[in-house]
Amino acid sequence: MTAITQVPLLDLSRIHAPLMPELTAAFEGIVTANSYIMGSAVTTFEQACAELLQVKHAIGVSSGSDALVLALMVLGIGPGDEVICPSYTFFATAGAVSRLGATPVFVDSLPGCHNLNPEAALAAVTPRTKAMIPVHLFGQSAELAPLLALGQAQGIAIIEDAAQAIGAAYQGRPVGSLGTFGTFSFFPSKNLGGFGDGGLLTTQDDALAEKARILRTHGSKPKYYHHYVGGNFRLDALQAALLSVKLPHHAIYAQQRQQLAAHYTQLFAQAGLAPATEGCHCQATATGPLQLPGNCQPGHVWNQFVIRLPNKTQRDGLQQHLKAQGVDTAIYYPIPLHLQPCFAELGYRAGSLPVCEQAAETTLALPIFPGLTPEEQAYVVDQISAYLS
Ligand SMILES: *Cc1c(COP(=O)(O)O)cnc(C)c1O
Repeated sequence: MTAITQVPLLDLSRIHAPLMPELTAAFEGIVTANSYIMGSAVTTFEQACAELLQVKHAIGVSSGSDALVLALMVLGIGPGDEVICPSYTFFATAGAVSRLGATPVFVDSLPGCHNLNPEAALAAVTPRTKAMIPVHLFGQSAELAPLLALGQAQGIAIIEDAAQAIGAAYQGRPVGSLGTFGTFSFFPSKNLGGFGDGGLLTTQDDALAEKARILRTHGSKPKYYHHYVGGNFRLDALQAALLSVKLPHHAIYAQQRQQLAAHYTQLFAQAGLAPATEGCHCQATATGPLQLPGNCQPGHVWNQFVIRLPNKTQRDGLQQHLKAQGVDTAIYYPIPLHLQPCFAELGYRAGSLPVCEQAAETTLALPIFPGLTPEEQAYVVDQISAYLS
């Protein structure tokens, strides 16, 4: 066996190579049929997703970002409305709100698992609040019960941004099936990655689904008769056909990610870097040389394995060290959304949301993907150990 010198952050060819004959056949099927927009490839994929996610309606759309925009459009959210969301998330969560002229209201995260702090979310509600967008960050469900209860009591829509968490569970139910809407992304680096852009909108509500389907195609029903101004939010038939090849393997991919996460935890404990904490540590902050990702929901599907260092100097130093040793890592996310220049007019400043500001300075995502080997994981942990000792 050759010694390891390189570990990629993500290597999709390890996932796709075994599927190549099936992917090729799916591609040929679409090109032979000359059926590229909607049609049976899309509806077949939507039905399979609805089954996996235990929802009544799964609607294929052009991206995870567009799924969020579409959900907000269906709800009629616009200028004067407030939507509560985390600041420590991918840009699209809040970008969708702003694109419709509504105001994102940013709330802080929990220091261990980095998901939305539910108490902070409840405290941010005003008479203008129309929706909340909890994000199931890094593959782990956010705490939903208090948000769902509030949503019911006050008529506030809950949109689960499940872009990073397809197949994850909250209290035994698939994420995206609990709120008013669920939104998913098939961006290549997500747990069910497509071959370009794609997304999914889910709901249990017939009327909301009907309106979403109409808005997905310019608000027309029947064709050329427009009751609403919609957009082109369609999922390509080609993406649907290729994703249908990967979907049946999804549970195995999720299982592999869970095994890889457990193995990292074991390796870090063996190296004396981070004792495996019993139970949930969403509230934990780093005390040792590094903090492992909070693992509080049994249905965590590990889109990312994000460790936390005591400070920015050590985080940046570790990333450089790993790069020099051939290990690719990433920082999700270096600047929380409330401090982005495009949201300056909202009046947040450094110190407004201290937990997510600290997370942005101290977290580092390590390689985790189906096909990553235990030897590669050992190499990663050895290099981290060498840097920290
Ligand atoms: C990836 C992602 C999105 C956007 O999905 P796209 O398909 O890239 O548009 C939205 N929210 C979160 C949390 C994401 O990680």
